Amino acid sequence: MKRFDINGWVRPNILAMEPYSSARDEFKGEASVYLDANENPYNTPYNRYPDPMQWKLKERVAEVKSVPKDSILLGNGSDEPIDLIIRAFCVPGKDSILTLEPTYGMYQVAAEVNDIYCKKVKLTADFQINLPELLAAIDATVKVIFICSPNNPTGNSLKRSDIYKILDSFEGIVVVDEAYIDFSADSSLSKNLNDYGNLIVLQTLSKAWGAAGIRLGMAFASPEIIAVLNKIKYPYNVNQLTQEKALEILNNQSKMEEQLKAILEERTRLQQELNNLPLIMKIYPTDANFILVRVDDANAVYAKLASDGIIVRNRNKVTLCANCLRITVGTPEEDDALLKALRKM
Ligand SMILES: *Cc1c(COP(=O)(O)O)cnc(C)c1O
Repeated sequence: MKRFDINGWVRPNILAMEPYSSARDEFKGEASVYLDANENPYNTPYNRYPDPMQWKLKERVAEVKSVPKDSILLGNGSDEPIDLIIRAFCVPGKDSILTLEPTYGMYQVAAEVNDIYCKKVKLTADFQINLPELLAAIDATVKVIFICSPNNPTGNSLKRSDIYKILDSFEGIVVVDEAYIDFSADSSLSKNLNDYGNLIVLQTLSKAWGAAGIRLGMAFASPEIIAVLNKIKYPYNVNQLTQEKALEILNNQSKMEEQLKAILEERTRLQQELNNLPLIMKIYPTDANFILVRVDDANAVYAKLASDGIIVRNRNKVTLCANCLRITVGTPEEDDALLKALRKM
């Protein structure tokens, strides 16, 4: 077990502050008359504030993800925990986060909104972690390292042994964003929560679970870290409709698994079909529900596809991704439309 001295890493003002105490925090349990929260008494049925700690939903998440309830924070998408982590551990105007390039853009945006500097270390040419450079970039201002695996927009998983080395060598917080873990053969790092007190794993219902519209993100970490994030989140950060729908979705795991199987089969077919197209110069390996490809002129291919009503993600301007397009695996019909449009170019 790697110990993590949380008091040495949480922002001093956050360590010292008292959190807001809502009506639903102060009285817990069952009562027959609720006159404590200035709610409208008529059942609409959404007249009551939701459970600020989402315990019913967390019980189900705990079962599905094999993580203890008090090691779970639920948020308005994973974007909320990303922001909470930065605000909990980084002092504005002073501290920094460290990210790998290219990766998901929200880490930098959340940092900059909070006046936190975003240090970047480039991945190697095969999109793996440059460990010596990453370790050399760590200084006293770096409080959080963000690792996305499988990585967006490259699609590949980062070497597990490198992630363990970072967890071992860095004393601060290491966030592993597993938004795409369900599409990968690798297991979640959440099984290592007991080994690393400085680990936070992020997952989401937005990708494999097919529920980007309801906004539910999950952070898994030690109860001490979760308690700090709970202290600074909005009291009712996950609304009642989302809590109910998320529970329904998580109770129907077989539907997700069926769709996951279909998407993985379609990913293989799409890779094979793209491989037959002379226009596609390189297909990067993927453990996610998208494929990064390199073409001769990404801007031109993007524009032609768009004029056919087919939108992919143009990553041409992203570090190490010149002339690359990121293509989400769609239904067989959608992918056939893409392939047809590519073939006639
Ligand atoms: C899509 C994605 C997410 C999900 O964000 P939500 O706010 O949960 O929808 C998180 N991280 C990465 C890397 C993603 O690509």
